[in-house]
Amino acid sequence: MSPVNSLLGIEGLVIERVDNRRDIHVWARPRERLACVHCQQTAVRIKATYRRTLKHSRQGNQLVVLHLSVPKYHCPGCQRYFRHRFAGIRPRLQATEAYRLEVFEAHEGGVSQRKLTATHAVSSATVERWYQFFIRQRVSELSGRSCPQVLGIDEHFFSRKQRLCHEPGGSQEP
Ligand SMILES: [Zn+2]
Repeated sequence: MSPVNSLLGIEGLVIERVDNRRDIHVWARPRERLACVHCQQTAVRIKATYRRTLKHSRQGNQLVVLHLSVPKYHCPGCQRYFRHRFAGIRPRLQATEAYRLEVFEAHEGGVSQRKLTATHAVSSATVERWYQFFIRQRVSELSGRSCPQVLGIDEHFFSRKQRLCHEPGGSQEP
C-alpha cells in the first residue's frame, strides 16, 4: 500500500494523482463498480461521472483535499440509476467522516471554534453543527446500551409529574 493510500484510509480507492503544494490534493476514483443497489445486478454501466471535493484530514500544517470521481451507474437489470457510495463519506457533505470526527475530537478536547476555523478551514457554525452531530450520535449509542426499563420509568415519572403540574389550570373538565 502506498503512503498516500494509507494516508487516505478509505477502502476501494485508486489514487490517480497527488499534488503536494500548499495543501495536499489527491485525485481518486473507485477501484471497481458497485453492484446495483436496487437489484444486485453486477453488470452496471457508467452513465456519467461527477466530481466531489472533500476535506479529508490535516497532515502537519497541510490540509488533505480529496477530489473524488463519482460514477453514476445505470442498471440494465432494473433500469434504475444510482451513484457510487463510499464507506466513510456521506452524501452531499463537503468533508469525509474522518475529517468531521477529527474536528469534533479537537473541539471536544478544548480546541476553540476560532482555532479550528484557521486550521481546518471550516466555519464556526460548521464546527458547532458537527460537534452537535457527534454528541447526539454518542448519546443515542449510550441510551441504546443502558437499561430500557429504567428509562421507561423516568419518562413515565416525568410525564406524570408534568400532567400533575399542568392539569389543575388546564381546560380538561370531567
Ligand atoms: Zn438493478
